[in-house]
Amino acid sequence: MQNPFSLTLLNALGEGVYSINTKGECTYINERALSLLGYSEDEVLGKDQHELFHHHKIDGTQYTHQECPVSKTLHDGVRREMVDRFIHKNGDYIDVRVHVTPIIDEQTKQITGAVVAFSDIREYVKTENQLRAEHDLFNQGPVAIFIWEVSNEWPICFASSNVINIFGYAAEDMLKPDFHYTHHIHPDDFVKTMVDVRLNMAQSKPKWEQAYRFYKADGSLIWLHHYTSAEFSNSGKITRLLGYVIDVTNQKNMEAELIRAATIDTLTGALNRGELMKRLESEFVRVKRSAKPLSVLMIDIDHFKTINDTYGHAVGDEALKQFSQIVQNLKRESDSFGRIGGEEFILMLPETSIEGAQIVAEKLCRVVSQNRLVTKTETIQYTVSIGVAVCDKQLPKTVDELLHDADMGLYQAKEMGRNRVVTYYHPQPAI
Ligand code: GH3
Ligand code: MG
Ligand code: MG
Repeated sequence: MQNPFSLTLLNALGEGVYSINTKGECTYINERALSLLGYSEDEVLGKDQHELFHHHKIDGTQYTHQECPVSKTLHDGVRREMVDRFIHKNGDYIDVRVHVTPIIDEQTKQITGAVVAFSDIREYVKTENQLRAEHDLFNQGPVAIFIWEVSNEWPICFASSNVINIFGYAAEDMLKPDFHYTHHIHPDDFVKTMVDVRLNMAQSKPKWEQAYRFYKADGSLIWLHHYTSAEFSNSGKITRLLGYVIDVTNQKNMEAELIRAATIDTLTGALNRGELMKRLESEFVRVKRSAKPLSVLMIDIDHFKTINDTYGHAVGDEALKQFSQIVQNLKRESDSFGRIGGEEFILMLPETSIEGAQIVAEKLCRVVSQNRLVTKTETIQYTVSIGVAVCDKQLPKTVDELLHDADMGLYQAKEMGRNRVVTYYHPQPAI
């Protein structure tokens, strides 16, 4: 240690270095070690290093003399490396990475001491703790992260461990080569999702967003919102896709419920007046462009006031619900059925001639009259009157004119004794 070059070398190190004799007493300490530990050379030399500054493990618990890895090396001559905690003169902890090397006498092969080299890793530990905290925070969060490699098989090369919370699959399962993410996308969303990815990639877009339904491990369906960020090679080719995926099922359900509430009549489940009028308007745009006619049925329950007065309002409500159900069962998928007033309804029949509409109306009229509403105390029969009108190339009209005509048909049906269908032509069809 007296060699000036060696001393300069040791003092130039960024690591703390000290040596000890077989009793654990310091025989040398470099400048970096002194500055890290806050002692002067006189305070350290000849002192037991374990007592002075090395008696804590990284978790804060204390070593006994026997447990101390430095003491162990003095006994067994084994080199050791560990992460540990030294104590500064002022009592502060210093997280350190320590290397203990035995000093062995070449002739006698006896252990004569040890050299301890240590570096300050407080910054590293702090960063690691921070990262761990962020990682834990992220893993409890709702965003799953994936990385896809762009190749024929599209393997997932990274999946965050919280995917299990969203998908029900463990990250390691999703990383397997036989797991195909896209096979779990709902068939109705699959093509659009894949085409959009291809298009965005073809246009070298750096970012895009998509929403689709996905089958979880338990077979249930969830709505996902998927943010993609593309990674490019130096030559500008997309090499990987980073996906941030959020389960938005609750939000989608709420949206659907809001749309439902805004368009559906709560008592009967039929469309409300606003929604029906909207559909009529857009159907009219189509009628003008195509040669296909549009027919409407204006339906009103006969003597409904009497049902209410005789059996009570609740029974009246039941009749409205039951009648709506009859229509829902009878109508085609493309027909729109709405409640436009208390006991007044419209059934809109796109691409249906007046003859076709009459058949539907007659059938509805008959089914309702043959039907019975059975309550706890009564069995009730009721009927409907229906006005039918059409709009086509021969009889062009506005929405208001079409509804007026259907209403005229309904009025005449009532006048003629109810429980019947009347078709109203206006203007008169050309012969
Ligand atoms: P008509 O054969 O001429 O159509 O006679 P009506 O009694 O059916 O016609 P009116 O228009 O005189 O009476 C309709 C009744 O429908 C009056 C109203 O209290 C009742 N009504 C309206 N909305 C509801 C409802 O939501 N529930 C019940 N139970 N009754 C309703
Ligand atoms: Mg009525
Ligand atoms: Mg009425």
